[in-house]
Formats: sequence, structure tokens, C-alpha cells
Amino acid sequence: MTQATHPAAVSEDPVADPHARPAEEVLANLSSSPQGLTGDEAAQRLARFGTNALPEGRRRHPVMRFLSQFNNALIYFMLAGALAAGVLGHAVDAGVILAVVLVNAIVGFLQEGKAEDALAAIRNMIAPKASVLRDGERISVPMADLVPGDVVLIEAGDRVPADLRLIHARSLLIDEAILTGESVASSKMTAPVAADAALGDRKPMAFSGTLVAAGQGAGVVVATGLHTQIGQISRMLGEVEELTTPLLRQVNSFGKRFTQVAFVGAAVLFVFAVTLRGFAWDDALTAVVALAVGLVPEGLPAVITITLAIGVQRMAARNAVIRHLPAVETLGATSVICSDKTGTLTRNEMTVRRVMTSGGLLTVEGAGYDPGPHRVAADGPAGTLIRAALLCNDARLRPDGGHWLVEGDPMEGALVTLAMKAGLVPEAERAAWPRLDQIPFDATWRYMATLHRLPSGEAVVLLKGAPERLLEMCDRQEGLAGAEPLDPAYWEAQIADAAAEGERVLGYAMRRMPGDATSVDFPDVAGGLIFLGLTGFIDPPRSEAIRAIAECHSAGIGVRMITGDHAATAAAIARQLGLAKDPHVLTGQDLDALAPEAFRAAVRETQVFARTSPEHKLRIVQALQADGLIVAMTGDGVNDAPSLKQADVGIAMGIKGTEAAKEAAQMVLMDDNFASIVAAVQEGRTVYDNIRKVVSWTLPTNGGEALTVILAILVGFSMPMTPVQILWINLILAATLGLVLAFEPTEPGVMRRPPRHPDAGLLSRFLVWRIFFVSVLFMALSLGLFFWALGQGRDLDTARTMVVNLIVVLEIFYLFNVRYLHMSSFTLTGVKGTGPVLGAVGIVVVAQIAFTYLPVMNGLFGSRPLTLLDGVVIVAIGLVSLVVLEVEKHFLRDRFD
Ligand code: ADP
Ligand code: MG
Repeated sequence: MTQATHPAAVSEDPVADPHARPAEEVLANLSSSPQGLTGDEAAQRLARFGTNALPEGRRRHPVMRFLSQFNNALIYFMLAGALAAGVLGHAVDAGVILAVVLVNAIVGFLQEGKAEDALAAIRNMIAPKASVLRDGERISVPMADLVPGDVVLIEAGDRVPADLRLIHARSLLIDEAILTGESVASSKMTAPVAADAALGDRKPMAFSGTLVAAGQGAGVVVATGLHTQIGQISRMLGEVEELTTPLLRQVNSFGKRFTQVAFVGAAVLFVFAVTLRGFAWDDALTAVVALAVGLVPEGLPAVITITLAIGVQRMAARNAVIRHLPAVETLGATSVICSDKTGTLTRNEMTVRRVMTSGGLLTVEGAGYDPGPHRVAADGPAGTLIRAALLCNDARLRPDGGHWLVEGDPMEGALVTLAMKAGLVPEAERAAWPRLDQIPFDATWRYMATLHRLPSGEAVVLLKGAPERLLEMCDRQEGLAGAEPLDPAYWEAQIADAAAEGERVLGYAMRRMPGDATSVDFPDVAGGLIFLGLTGFIDPPRSEAIRAIAECHSAGIGVRMITGDHAATAAAIARQLGLAKDPHVLTGQDLDALAPEAFRAAVRETQVFARTSPEHKLRIVQALQADGLIVAMTGDGVNDAPSLKQADVGIAMGIKGTEAAKEAAQMVLMDDNFASIVAAVQEGRTVYDNIRKVVSWTLPTNGGEALTVILAILVGFSMPMTPVQILWINLILAATLGLVLAFEPTEPGVMRRPPRHPDAGLLSRFLVWRIFFVSVLFMALSLGLFFWALGQGRDLDTARTMVVNLIVVLEIFYLFNVRYLHMSSFTLTGVKGTGPVLGAVGIVVVAQIAFTYLPVMNGLFGSRPLTLLDGVVIVAIGLVSLVVLEVEKHFLRDRFD
């Protein structure tokens, strides 16, 4: 014996060094038992020990967040401009520039704070749960509610929720890299080890935050929250995510380049104005500074962040929780969705419809988990099968006001219902045939096995699983007069019958074991089993999935079903879902037989993949990606993690998904529903559209303003706007019109377009043309008005005031045009606008009235009051511009996309 169990090696504290004490002693010291705590006791301990939570990942201090708003090339440029204007004694100009910067920073700060809050709230939606025994029952509680003494059950795919002293471990492998840096999962047992063993060698412990890679286990909580190993080294879990995406980086680098160009251009213009146009150098400098400031889209990064954050919130409201911000963009470009079948495309509300034994077919009445008045005559082989189905089963049915609810796998729940219809009392059967050991279900071997002690004292293994798999392991079948030779052809015909109806078919088998057997392992069930028969389940397609698939088809998005189920069942469900009239189906075996090139071609042509294992999923994603597709892929098990990571958008199931799958995924579906994926794609497309709208509005409006002034300097006529007026336009638009496009609702028809090309840059040809066209149009209209007013004998200040008002009016009308990139804005909803749009327009109008009529503004900005007629002319020109832009959009939008 090692010194591990030597009492002297163990410290005095009753729960110190739990790895060095026998499990029973740790349980006793914690006043707990293998049945766990009572609910009351747990509640008391929670009050005493506090919640099992670590402090949240560090969030940036508000002051830091505010300051970071200024850390941007565009803003540096503006600040330099303000400084230049200040030094030259142009206090108003300097003040307005600073006001622009400040407004911009405040908007960015507030919106970014909202975005961070939204992300944090969303993270809480997917807060992990733990399975514990309370009052002897297995229940699922929020991880934060665990207390010392709780008995926690863990299995493959779980994050260990607290520090546990294992009291049971079965083939348990735990990945402790987060704690020890060791990437090979360590195998766990329950026997004590030396008190001074290194963390990585503490075999009977499962540490909070580590990941169960395989097997099952149970352990008593010895430490929670900050007292856990992970809490002590105070490494943060779930760090706050950075608010950045490829698009945002693209915009930032665009901003940098833009600033450089603007800077060089401004310098050239300055030299030109002073040397060739005879400007006083300080006038020229303020003019070019104002110009460059007007040109710089300093608000763009903040608005795009806001647009993304709004997208995340809208997706969450539709049950799609984004874990990584870039997924918002990728979703909009998704061109194929690979989905699980059971529970995602189907409802996962199972009912056994038929029982097939060597004696023939038994039809079962009823729907749902309620046994109701329905009875099945269960004698002979059918009786044996139904008892096996009840015992080789981890689900429980719980009455809930007239209904029965399933805890556990719905398919297993349906089998409990079947047993009740056959007159069996689940608790009584479980007590009479106690379970000694088990091989848990795994998608890799597709069956599960349980070892039971019979009332007669004998031992028997019961199995249920994919029928082809079980048939391979059987050499006899249960007949009316006991075991008889197996008739595979008979069973295959039965399977084909049920599967053709879309039923999920499950097989059952058994084997007698030596009376003293206490454990079961793979060799025990490798052969020589007796086949008991089959059951067929119905699992109706989700009606919303049928609609969502139709939507995908019109949106140019391919849908592939990838399932562990039988090929014929999968094909029948695919037909019911409208996935394809005559779906092309390949099984995992078919795939394995293909050479790599043929594999890719086959994947391209196939809608349904059946009897696949998680490795197939990975290869399917890779093949689709090799064809240039953007792949979204669903998954729930531990083994799905690689394919979820490989996919462009990995999607984990929120309800039945393991923690491992959720962590590998970029998005989690709260309702496990296929329709929610499609909703997220739609929101993703909306986000991208809105970003394009923000850019298409911002750049040309800046351009129009700038061109007007540049032309005046180049040609040498008097400036149509003063520098401080240019800055004013910037100031009032920054927090109003510049922001509202982020809030735009989905444009009708987004799901009737093909996905956008993933490599297409933000500045599509249409956009570049737009920037040019609108800039020139705005310049032409402004200069036209300017010279017309001068020609009418109006003074220069009045003409300038008219130009400023016209530019603002043009931008308002242009906003209405841009709100619909893909359709006419002359629709009832288009003209009505939305709350944010009307609010922003209202603010701008009030600001312009102040600018035009308030004496103090006249003093500051050199503006002059205008007549009503002037106003009518200005609005009329705005309307004309809208008509021109609508005509242009009508002819060009499709050609340039
Ligand atoms: P799906 O893609 O339909 O979710 P799974 O990978 O969950 O398929 O299951 C694949 C096959 O494994 C099922 O068709 C069934 O034959 C078998 N199976 C699923 N769950 C269980 C279970 N709890 N016990 C035994 N066999 C199961
Ligand atoms: Mg499944």
C-alpha cells in the first residue's frame, strides 16, 4: 500500500485533502451521503457558503472605455485639426470640432456599453447547469446553486461544475488542461492518493472548470466558487469578449487609409490655395482642416459596432444566442446549413407506434407520453421486449397536472409510456430488477447496455440500440417457445417497413450472464446475444422547420440533414420536411467507401446523410468548404466539437447540447429548433445590409459636402460654406441621421436573395458608384442653388445659409432612399419611416431652424434668416434629388450587387 491511506499524511481539517481520504469519509465529513443532500439542507448551505460562482471576467472600467473612444486614427486627425484651429485663434471652429469629437465619443461610449451589457445578458442565457442528487432524485440546477456536500453526476461533454471528490467513476477521462496545462485527458478513479500528490495526479478528484472527455462519474462537492482550485488561481473563465469582427477591422483599416489620403489631399489643396489662389495661409488652413474633418467618417466604427450589437440582441430574441461576435457577419453569408434531424428538424416528441417481435406486429394506440386508456397485450416475446425497453432506459416520467413530462431522452420516455400501456409499473420493475452496471449510450457505438439482477438471482444484460448494430451481435432470437435461430431477412423487412413510414426504429437484445456478474463491458456483448425485436417511433417534423426549409430554398441556402438514424427513416422525414422530393441519401458506410475526390463530389449531390458518426460530420464540413461554401453546422455531443469548430458557424443545441459542444460553437440555439437558425441567418443578412446602408449613407454625404468646397477652391469662386458651417453639418448629423440606419428593421425580401459572396468587400461596385454619383449630385445641386441665390442678388451669407440647409435636406431625403437598398422607397412603409428615423429627422429640423433663425447662431456661424419661399425651394430640390436617386437605384441595384 502507498502511504496514501496513511492517516498521518492527511491534515486535521475534516475536508482538507479530500483526495487522500476514502470517499465515504469525505461524504461523512460533509454530512452527506451517496443519495446527496435534501433540498432544505442545500438551501441552508447555499446561504452559508454563498453561490458557486467566480467573479466575472474583468470588464473595462468606464473611464477606460470612454478614453478608448478617442483611440482611433480618424479622431486623432480631428483633434489635430481642433488644435490647429485653436492655435490660429479660430475658437468657434476649434470648439465645434471638439464638440463633434465629444458627441461621437459619447455616442460610442453609451452604445458600446449597451452592447457589452447585451452580450453579458446573453451569456447568462446559456449559463451552465449541473445534474445533482437532491432528496435522492436526479435534478438539474444552475451551476451557481451547488453547495459543499451536493452529489453531482458528470458525463462526457460536461464542464465539471465544482471541485468534486469522486465517489463513482466509470471510464472517466477528464481534460484538465485549463488547470494543469496537460493536454492529455487524465483517467480518474475513486481510490485515495497521497496527500501531497500534484494536482494532475489527484485521480479521485474532478476539478471545477475541467472538461469531461469520456465516461461517467459522480462526486461529492468539496469546494465551490473561489474555494475551488480554479478559483484560487483566480483564472477568469468566460472572459469578456472583444467587440470586434472582420468587418469592423476592415472599416478601421479603411478609416486609417482614408485619413492618410485626406491628409495628403488637404495638404496639396492648402498649398494650392495659398500659392495659386492667394488665400491668406491661416484662412486656407482652417478651410482645409474643416474640409478634411467633414470628409472623415469618424462615426463609422461606432455605428457599425452598434449595428452588430443590435443584431446580436435581435438574434437572442429569436432564440439564437451568439457566443462570438464575428458569427453575426458569417451567418449572413451562410450558404449551406447542415442540421441534425432528431429534435432540430423534428419535434423530438416520440411515441411508440409499433412493436415487432418474432411473433408479429403489435400496433400501439395513443400519442404523447400520456399512457391514457390505451393498452397493449404484452405477453411472450413482446413482454420481454417491453420490460427490456423499460429497464435499459435512463428516462423518468413525471406527472404534472394531468400530463406526463419526460426527464431525460424523449425516445426513452416514450418507452416508459409503452411499458405503462403494457401494465408495468416502472418503479416496481426497477426495484425488482436492480441495475448493477451499464455501458452508456454513445453515438459512436449506437447502443446502450445495462446489467440487472433478476428476482431469481441470475444476472442479465439488456441492450437497446440501432437494430443493424444489435443484429450483428445476435445469433438467436426470442421466439414463442424460447430462443430460436436468428432470421435476419425477417427483421430487415420489418425495419424497412417501419423506416419507410419515417419511423425511428430501435432494436432490443439480451444475454444471460454468470450469476455473480457485477459489471458489464464491451466483450460481454460482442456476440452471442438473443434478439428480442424492434419498436418503431413516430417523431413528427416541426411545422416551423418545414417553413424554414422552404425559406432557405428561396434564399439560395442549401440544407443538409446529418443524422445517426437509419437511412430510410431519414429519407422519409426529409420528404415530409420538403427537403427534397427524392432525397439523395448516403450512409456513413457509403462515405467511408469513397476516395477523397469522389467524397467531395458525393457530398455536393447529397441531401441526407444517415448512420453517420461525428467524424463524418467533420469530413462533410470540410468537403463543403472546399467547394467554397459557407457552412453552418449543428451539434450536441462531445464528439461534435471538432466539426463545430471547423464549420464557419458552429451551432450547439441549448437544451440537449453538452457543455463541450456549446463551448466549441459560435452560436447556441435556446430551443434546439432549426427555424431559429434560419431566423438568425435572416438577422445576419439584415445586419450586413444595415452596415452597407450606414456606409452608403455616410460616405457620399461627406463626399458631396467636400467636393463643393474643393471645387470652389480649385476654380476660385467664393466658398459656398464657411469652415465652421461645414463643421456644424458634421456636428448635427453625427448623433442623429448617422446613427438611425443601425436600427433599421429587416428589408422585405432579404430571404429571397442568394447569400452574399463571402469574399465580396463592403464596398461593392454599386456602392463605389453610389458614392461617386451622390457626391457629384449633391455638389451640383448645392452649387446650383448657391449661384442661383447670388444671381438673385442675395448676399453671400444668405446664399451660404441656403447651401447649408440644402445639404442637410439632401441628406434627409437620401436617408429615405438608402433605407431600402433592394427596393423602391416610395412605399407606404418607406415614406412613413420608423420611430428612430422620424426622431432623428425631427432633431435635425429643429437644429436647422435654430441655426437659421436664432441670433446667437447667426453670430457664431454667420448664418442668416431665410424666407418661407427659400425653404420651399430647398425642400423641392431635396424631393427632386430623391426622385433622381430612386430612378438610379431602380435601374442599377441588380446589376451592381
Ligand atoms: P440522431 O441524429 O437522430 O440524433 P443519434 O446519433 O442520437 O441520432 O442516434 C443514432 C442512433 O442511435 C439512433 O437511430 C438509435 O438507433 C440509437 N440510439 C439513440 N439514442 C439511443 C439510446 N438512448 N439508447 C439506445 N440507442 C439509441
Ligand atoms: Mg441524437
